Amino acid sequence: MAFIRKGMVKERKLPEFEELSTPEDLIKLAESKGLNTDPINITELAQELGVTVRFEPLEDEVSGSLVKEKRSGAWVMKVNSLHHPHRQRFTIAHELAHRICHAANSDNFEDKTFFRNGDSNWMEAEANQFAAALLMPENSFVNYIDNVSSKVEDLANYFQVSSMAVRVRAKVLGYEGHNL
Ligand SMILES: [Zn+2]
Repeated sequence: MAFIRKGMVKERKLPEFEELSTPEDLIKLAESKGLNTDPINITELAQELGVTVRFEPLEDEVSGSLVKEKRSGAWVMKVNSLHHPHRQRFTIAHELAHRICHAANSDNFEDKTFFRNGDSNWMEAEANQFAAALLMPENSFVNYIDNVSSKVEDLANYFQVSSMAVRVRAKVLGYEGHNL
């Protein structure tokens, strides 16, 4: 019984995120705070959620990390500043997904090259999907393709993500063909 009580108390340590569990929830939060959502200002959103974001040169294979500091209890995200800015945005969104969805499971995430080994466990797969939906919301994505352009490079420029991220997102949303 003692173990069950402990577990319950542990889960209650994150009350601020009780109603923030999906990318859509975060987009609504960003809107309510007056942040840009088109495309989303991912750095300010992370800060809004209490995560400190540090841009630092890291080893090339490391995209970023998210660690809960033991003494202060503060969550600190590192982003590889040597990577392309579009990739950095994906990294931030991915680490934010760990903060929102997986903080009860781990307090130390280190991420290496997302699309090559990123789906190596359920948390990584979930964080990638969460990040893609946060950076490229379905409505906006479909709207852009219907009204502006279906070219990968146009979508990548608009949503400020890599062309690889656009291709993966397009596939998830049911698009196929040479362009996407
Ligand atoms: Zn990860």
